[in-house]
Amino acid sequence: MNTIPRAVVIVGAGQAGVQAASALRAEGYGGTIDLLGNEPCLPYQRPPLSKSYLSGDVADEDLHLETAAWFAEQRIERLPDAHVDTIEPRQKRVRLSTGQTLDYDHLILATGARNRSLPALSEPMRGVISLRTVADAAALTSRLRDARRVVVIGAGFLGLEVASVAIAQGCDVHVVESVDRVMQRAISVDMSQACLRHHRAAGLTVSFDARVDAFCAQDGSVSAVKLADGRVIQADLVLVAIGVVPNSELGSACGLEIFNGFIVDDQLRTSDPAISAIGDCAAFPYAFDDGDRLRLESVQNAVDQACYVARRIMGTTDGRRYDQVPVFWSDQGGMRLQIAGVARRLDASVLRGDPTSGAFSIFRYRDDRLTAVESFNRPTDHMVARRMLQRRISPSRAEATDMTFDLKSLVNATVTT
Ligand SMILES: Cc1cc2nc3c(=O)[nH]c(=O)nc-3n(C[C@H](O)[C@H](O)[C@H](O)COP(=O)(O)OP(=O)(O)OC[C@H]3O[C@@H](n4cnc5c(N)ncnc54)[C@H](O)[C@@H]3O)c2cc1C
Repeated sequence: MNTIPRAVVIVGAGQAGVQAASALRAEGYGGTIDLLGNEPCLPYQRPPLSKSYLSGDVADEDLHLETAAWFAEQRIERLPDAHVDTIEPRQKRVRLSTGQTLDYDHLILATGARNRSLPALSEPMRGVISLRTVADAAALTSRLRDARRVVVIGAGFLGLEVASVAIAQGCDVHVVESVDRVMQRAISVDMSQACLRHHRAAGLTVSFDARVDAFCAQDGSVSAVKLADGRVIQADLVLVAIGVVPNSELGSACGLEIFNGFIVDDQLRTSDPAISAIGDCAAFPYAFDDGDRLRLESVQNAVDQACYVARRIMGTTDGRRYDQVPVFWSDQGGMRLQIAGVARRLDASVLRGDPTSGAFSIFRYRDDRLTAVESFNRPTDHMVARRMLQRRISPSRAEATDMTFDLKSLVNATVTT
């Protein structure tokens, strides 16, 4: 029989932590919830930081996930500026950097990730910024106001989102990427090429297979980026966007299994069953892919995992494994890229629609099985892809390419049978 814990402590007050607290209350949990986060402000959403916040369309208060009044009404004890230093699993308690301790019956780790640092930047330099927090975004926004020449290091989602905003604000933007295509880790070669065409048409310069050797400064501020091939790119603002590493050090000191994040089982429990891990910091078995381990950095993943853990704690998952198809989106200067599912590098690509029309999708297949769908300004394909993947429905490759074929009919047909 499931015993519902009386005290839940959540470490990390980001998207996953707040959602876990909210979902616990929505599921009828009546015990105490302590939400510990080491940032000073109300919990906020990060996606606008590289998009609408940066372009000035969204204010600080619009970023908040919930209000202070809501936390109070929900009886969620929110502790800002609370950095958890250690977990003491035997005593079932966490210790803060202030020395304060908190006991738990169940602990949820939602510690997220932090930006990877660039070896060429041995110490901070004015004008060289990385973006994770609202404080970073505020610094970037103010710097961008006066910038003319921007260098973005890393052609991933975040780098290209910021590059798009900078282009729209009239800057000369040069993206420096160490591999041979944009968003290489996440999308197919064909989608990479289409996205690159879109960005180049908007005026972006991109250098591939390029490594940063050093930064040059004038009067203490960055003035140029020096590449390993000898090129020097002038810059008055540099964004370093070369990926993240999970915040999982807390677990190594207390013996939790760690490998690229907290290792969790198919019900999102760490190697200690009284501790769960969710969101960017959790490496979980991907049910769709026979349990291949994944660690994802997306809002939907954080939200889905938080909701699942809340239900599991309340005993309503009946031992069923976590089985959500991942979804991701990115807005890059008039282009909305949406991805459902996770493809492996060698999965075949099948095109639906015409890339030159500015709206198309790429369906990824492993043998005859649909593994992911990447959509470029095709939200309807994305929506149907989510439903197909969740139900393990694969259109044939001919159906996928045939624009007259209604993919929804496959999903609807399965519902009625
Ligand atoms: C600029 C930006 C743009 C993004 N855009 C998109 C997008 O368009 N679409 C999308 O799906 N995703 C996007 N993401 C990713 C998405 O925001 C993350 O996947 C999501 O925030 C993960 O939530 P999380 O709660 O796991 O981690 P986080 O939001 O990082 O929260 C973790 C919190 O835990 C705190 N913490 C860590 N260690 C401790 C400790 N020891 N004690 C106390 N507190 C601790 C951290 O400081 C942080 O506040 C973006 C991310 C960034 C940075």
